[in-house]
Amino acid sequence: MDKTSVRLIDNLAEVTSHQNTKVLEKSLLKTLTELLPTEDIVLYEVLEQEKGVTLNVISHAIAKQTTSKSNSEPDNIKLFKPSFLLEAVQNQQVFIQSSENAQWNVFYPISSSNNNVFAVLSIVTRAFPSEIDKKLVSALLRVYSNYLGLLEKTQKDTLTGLFNRETLNYEISKILSRQNKSFNFHNNNASTDEKRRDLNQNKYWLGIIDIDHFKAINDTFGHLYGDEVLILVSRQMRKNLLRDDDLVFRYGGEEFVILLSTDTDIAAKSIFDRVRCQVSSHTFPQIEQVTISIGFVEIATQSSVADVIGQADKALYMAKENGRNRVEKYLPALKNPADSNQAHDDSTFGDFELF
Ligand code: GH3
Ligand code: MG
Ligand code: MG
Repeated sequence: MDKTSVRLIDNLAEVTSHQNTKVLEKSLLKTLTELLPTEDIVLYEVLEQEKGVTLNVISHAIAKQTTSKSNSEPDNIKLFKPSFLLEAVQNQQVFIQSSENAQWNVFYPISSSNNNVFAVLSIVTRAFPSEIDKKLVSALLRVYSNYLGLLEKTQKDTLTGLFNRETLNYEISKILSRQNKSFNFHNNNASTDEKRRDLNQNKYWLGIIDIDHFKAINDTFGHLYGDEVLILVSRQMRKNLLRDDDLVFRYGGEEFVILLSTDTDIAAKSIFDRVRCQVSSHTFPQIEQVTISIGFVEIATQSSVADVIGQADKALYMAKENGRNRVEKYLPALKNPADSNQAHDDSTFGDFELF
């Protein structure tokens, strides 16, 4: 086996070692910049919208550096008129176009297993792509597409298309271990709260969402209609989360989880409130209004995933108790003074406020 083949397999192993799709896409572009002479590579997702097909940048690589999509596109990104890209989408074929400065723009459509083009890769290159290069890129894109399909199956809920509970556990564990590691590293003698204030690091919030009186919806309109409501509610929730990093999960039955990162509990509450209003103001067929209750908590120094969920669940219980269609933040219960381990730890109280 020659060196090029070994390098190629090595790159494939690297690309498919990632379970996070954003990291996977970055790794794919990095591999392509290493294997081919390229000036610029952009990966677009194809979005079918009411006004037609649009393309959205997912990831971008310029020569040796790769950037992930941000809300504002970097200045140096080369955006093509959608018509060129649409040509590749519609014909499901590689499309080559000459451009200024003796460069070539090569567009590769990326299809899912049911032949639906869900993404387009555009490569800007000075060398006209050889047949071998085109075959190599197309094969790599097939591996990417197959792997993405498998990831979807293991990480997503089939009814709503949201991330599933296993993925949620993984994401919470990741945040907990990152938070705990940096607290310990920062100052081993300071109290947990002091460490957190000093760090000025990102805060993560978890909200559990439960549809109000969902059983009545099922009982009145049937289970199939209930399923439809679950799909519509998840769509409404996703609509209102603007940041790329905010994640929505189906926790089980008619319960969902949102993970988000923001500086303060007030900001977190206002995002959860926006999600709640988005659902309650949507007109659902037949029943018209569906409401949700949300309990949320900061993911900080809890000792386990179950603790985080348990605390958010307590806050959700309060939201139900206090009338439903509302958001409550977790407040630790007053601790039993007889418990000598906890009697002196008043740091726990300082961080929580009533809204
Ligand atoms: P509350 O406001 O207190 O949350 O009341 P509720 O009726 O929503 O609560 P309860 O937990 O009593 O009912 C939840 C119902 O959700 C019961 C169950 O049959 C239904 N459910 C759970 N999973 C699914 C699902 O996948 N599809 C449908 N259609 N219904 C489901
Ligand atoms: Mg429930
Ligand atoms: Mg419910």
